[in-house]
Amino acid sequence: MTDTQSSTGEPLSQLTFDNRLVKQLPADPLRDNYPRQVPNAIYSFVNPQRAPAPQLVAYAQDVAALLDLTPEDCASERFVQVFTGNELLPGMEPHATCYGGHQFGQWAGQLGDGRAINLGEVKNRRGEHWTLQLKGAGPTPYSRTADGNAVLRSSLREFLCSEAMHHLGVPTTRALSLTLTGDQVQRDMFYDGNPEWEPGAVVCRVAPSFTRFGHFEILTARGEVDLLRQMADFTLRNDFPELGPPGRDSYIALLKEVCVRTARMIAHWMRVGFVHGVMNTDNMSILGLTIDYGPYGWLEGYDPGWTPNTTDAQGRRYRFGHQPQMALWNLLQLANALYPLVEDAAPLEAALDEYRREYLRSFQRDSVAKLGLPEYRPETDDKLTEDLQRLLPLVETDMTIFYRCLADFDPLVDQAEDSRSDAQLIEPLLPAYYSPPTEEHQQRTADWLRQYRERLVQEWVRTGLDQRQRRERMNRVNPKYVLRNYMAQQAIDAAEQGDFSEVYRLLELLRNPYDEQPQNQRYFARRPEWARRRPGSSMLSCSS
Ligand code: AMP
Ligand code: MG
Repeated sequence: MTDTQSSTGEPLSQLTFDNRLVKQLPADPLRDNYPRQVPNAIYSFVNPQRAPAPQLVAYAQDVAALLDLTPEDCASERFVQVFTGNELLPGMEPHATCYGGHQFGQWAGQLGDGRAINLGEVKNRRGEHWTLQLKGAGPTPYSRTADGNAVLRSSLREFLCSEAMHHLGVPTTRALSLTLTGDQVQRDMFYDGNPEWEPGAVVCRVAPSFTRFGHFEILTARGEVDLLRQMADFTLRNDFPELGPPGRDSYIALLKEVCVRTARMIAHWMRVGFVHGVMNTDNMSILGLTIDYGPYGWLEGYDPGWTPNTTDAQGRRYRFGHQPQMALWNLLQLANALYPLVEDAAPLEAALDEYRREYLRSFQRDSVAKLGLPEYRPETDDKLTEDLQRLLPLVETDMTIFYRCLADFDPLVDQAEDSRSDAQLIEPLLPAYYSPPTEEHQQRTADWLRQYRERLVQEWVRTGLDQRQRRERMNRVNPKYVLRNYMAQQAIDAAEQGDFSEVYRLLELLRNPYDEQPQNQRYFARRPEWARRRPGSSMLSCSS
């Protein structure tokens, strides 16, 4: 018998668990499930609550494949029971972890997995470890005053978006499944005293680990330096073995590596127009993965000041254009948390500089890649990209459509002179504008296109790159399809009526976001007017 066959023939019985976190780190000695402070421990054992009537909404076949699960496994009754939390497989050791965090700039003390329960670490056939985590499967010692549940609306947004991000090439946690619990959950979506009952749901998230900056912060805040060292050593051994054996140098190398990965993640967000919405330090992954999809949003009209999160509407701390700085601020908190292990600020500060360097490098590379240029040349491209950044917010311009259409702008490189009028030049870009451009805007855009053309001609002479190659390059970094907020909302509206077909359609569409999909052209369109004011499409709160 091979290890992929089960001994009993039952679905899912090929899953093998190797729960390193449970084995190697200290547990909370209390087993009762009530809200409390949990000092001197990394996690608490806790069982998922019972769901009265589990129902599968959807699963992601690519994530199932990572876990060596077959379509038959995923279609089984056992699958829906296990991934809603009603049945534990042999080897699972459910637990919730303790972390703290800075929320909107303030230290918030202990937070922890208030509605997330790790089931264990699957070791797949390739020897990779994948932690399975149920989100919304009931209260834990870290739930504080909340209920441990999640609703369909927010769970569906997390399920679809984390998969969409993966296929866009953005580092992210994954989602195996989305199920309904059969319970109703009460939520006051706009915190305005009008709570409503909504369907309860569970997402099974999957990642190599779910360690957050806040896991380190809470230990340092409590002065639990011994435990801090254990946590750092554990992270080095299991998540970053390439950084060498635990010790002062590798703690510094760890921070540096987190800085580099975070810089790359943020550059990706800026490239595709993603706004996380709640970049608190408890929502920052040590692996540089996008994590905790809540009131996130996608830029439609390009506006660096935009945030989808109504809870952050005042200060707009986590607005699109502020994300790079906020990531650095968060990394500074992580550096402070690691300080007791290093006791020297200079190397930690040097690691933070690595963030600035790596972000700039990635951002510049992406800025010109989005224009079809193979490398960033400061002498021309500082001005070219800055002028574009200034141009885009002047009138409401759909970011995704703009870049995709820009690939169709023909620079006519074989012609010595470009005699096209302003109107002719900007013609390919018209689908990106929410209202017809004024004459002044047309002129500014045409001026920028002439500057761009000049740069392309220079590149052509140097590299011989042609228009077809340029379009191909651009279409590999500028997605055609993103999960616009109104698209997710339409899938939610239908799913709440028991129709999951739009979920399947979007899941499939977003698996190939850079490809032309003629049958799906309707998703390559500006946000419809109704979505501008519709709650869920234009306004999102943390209530989920
Ligand atoms: P978030 O802002 O969604 O990342 O959540 C911040 C903290 O609140 C985390 O510790 C979550 O586990 C916790 N939390 C959020 N919603 C709930 C809920 N419904 N029940 C229990 N804990 C929650
Ligand atoms: Mg969170």
